[in-house]
Order: sequence, then structure tokens, then C-alpha cells
Amino acid sequence: MTSQSAQTCRSCDGQGTVFRDYGPEPCASCLGLGLLPSASVLTERRLREIEKIYEGRDLEAGQHVRWLASEVRRAHHALLQILAASQDLTPDDSIARKIRFLANDVLSVYPPAPREKPDDPGA
Ligand SMILES: [Zn+2]
Repeated sequence: MTSQSAQTCRSCDGQGTVFRDYGPEPCASCLGLGLLPSASVLTERRLREIEKIYEGRDLEAGQHVRWLASEVRRAHHALLQILAASQDLTPDDSIARKIRFLANDVLSVYPPAPREKPDDPGA
């Protein structure tokens, strides 16, 4: 896959560097690449940040966070499997297209497809 689905990082305007009072430093949002990773990578990164915040804190809240993070990962994995399975269906099948669109809307594996043109009434 190409980086077509990658978006320019808004934190650094695609430069990969942010400027602080003490000088430039690599952008934390894109890790200095200038492009944001896929939605799945961003979600996983955020989950790890949240888990780290609750690590070693109140036991009950940490358990809830770990459970929620595992459910998000499980749902993402299921969507990835659904997206992969939909690739085996007939490309023109409207249900298959809808499944691919809905799964990809969350995962952002592929760039959004341009809107289809309505059928030519003169054809
Ligand atoms: Zn950046």
C-alpha cells in the first residue's frame, strides 16, 4: 500500500519539526515524518498512552481501562478481518461495497474512494 491514505500532520504542517522556545524538536504527533500514520496506528498509539496513564494507579480504574482497550483492539481486529473477507466478494456487489466502506471508514486502510458518478441516463 502506498501512503495515499496518510494525511499531512497538522501539528507540524508536514515539516516533521516543531519549534519551541528552546529550539526545534521532532514532532511528537508524526514522530518527525510529517505524515500521520493510519487511523489504526493512531488508535493503538492513543490506547497505549491511556493505558500508561492508568498503569499503577487506582486498581479498579486501571482494570476498566485495560478492558476497554482490549475491546477496542478486538473490534479493530474484527473489522480488519471483515474488510479482508469483503475483498473476496464480487467487486460490483452493493453489499460488499457497503461492507468495505463501513469497515474502511473506521480503519482508514484505503483512501476514501471518489464518489461514483450516477448512471448515465442516456446510455
Ligand atoms: Zn508532525
